[in-house]
Amino acid sequence: MDYFSSDFTLGILGGGQLGKMMLYETRKFDIYTKVMDASVDAPCKIACNEFVVGDLLDFDAVYNFGKNVDVLTIEIENVNTEALERLENEGVAVYPSTDALRIIQNKAKQKLFYIDHGIPTAEFSRFAYASEISESIEHGSLDFPFVWKSAQFGYDGQGVKIIRNIKDLKGLPQGECITEEMVAFKNELAVIVARNISGEVKTYPVVEMEFHPEANQVEYVICPARIDIKVAKKAQEIALKVSSNIKHVGLLAVEMFQTQEDEILVNEVAPRPHNSGHYSIEASYTNQFEQHIRAILNLPLGNTDSKVAGIMVNLVGAEGYTGNAVYENMEAILKLDGVTPHIYGKKQTRPFRKMGHVTIVHEHIEEARKIAQLVKETIKVISK
Ligand code: ADP
Repeated sequence: MDYFSSDFTLGILGGGQLGKMMLYETRKFDIYTKVMDASVDAPCKIACNEFVVGDLLDFDAVYNFGKNVDVLTIEIENVNTEALERLENEGVAVYPSTDALRIIQNKAKQKLFYIDHGIPTAEFSRFAYASEISESIEHGSLDFPFVWKSAQFGYDGQGVKIIRNIKDLKGLPQGECITEEMVAFKNELAVIVARNISGEVKTYPVVEMEFHPEANQVEYVICPARIDIKVAKKAQEIALKVSSNIKHVGLLAVEMFQTQEDEILVNEVAPRPHNSGHYSIEASYTNQFEQHIRAILNLPLGNTDSKVAGIMVNLVGAEGYTGNAVYENMEAILKLDGVTPHIYGKKQTRPFRKMGHVTIVHEHIEEARKIAQLVKETIKVISK
């Protein structure tokens, strides 16, 4: 198939920042794209060839969109899988596959999948309704503290809550959920695995999420992770095992915990480009978005090594500001060496909304870390 400057059409479900960054790459290769998103102002709108407004969870919207493309991919996992299945049956190439997406869309299914395939993960219980949790506590089969997770439609920590006492159970959404043992992890790590249709596989280096000591928010994604090489190897091997069992095509971002005893537990996976791989745009030989395109079009995979150390700082809306976004002190950070801001193009900011990110690259990781801190302390997303 000729993809470049041709009649070939790549469809992308979801028009957010991940899609927008994927479109930098389709533009580079001159691949024709069509994007669907529910919002008329989605960040992808400015960079795709055709934009369709539609609900990603609606069968007809997804089916009608998909039947006019050659290859269909996603930039968000919450899409209508019945429509994807029908499209697959009718001959549309869908990556990741409906089967892979169905495992990943539901956290209870995902956890059972890890158990079935001998992949290490935190202990958990599964509940059809959140109200059943208190019965388990009364019967003594569940102890505080634990982590509650909605089985479906959680995103950026919204479907996750640490439960320390009975009061914390109040107000939880009623649907299917899991409870998970609380892991006193040393580090949160992630590995992105790329697999093309022919089965060629490559992993990116292990990255580390550094947390704010009090706010418990990820502040920096650091590549390479500052961990023992043996632990890094183990993390990559486990990520590869998840990947080969899910048989995904495209990217699979595997989020993991490094325990105090240096065990690796898989937390969750995402079958698409991921926040933990944004550093790769500036730091890697082949960035994650280009790699995703290569993989789903069955092109040779690119080199996943880094050219330099890379650190990513998420740019989230500052607390106390809601409204039209303003990026304060952009000029100050642009004066720093090796600093590249990415602004996603969301008109409205609100506290903690992901509005962009900044990448810092440097030959020396400790130097990059210092600059990253300066960036973090300088730039602020506020409203007019
Ligand atoms: P989301 O799908 O919203 O990203 P995650 O399952 O990744 O949700 O959880 C969000 C964050 O909550 C994790 O990055 C981690 O910091 C914390 N967390 C999740 N599960 C556990 C656990 N079992 N023990 C301790 N912390 C956890």
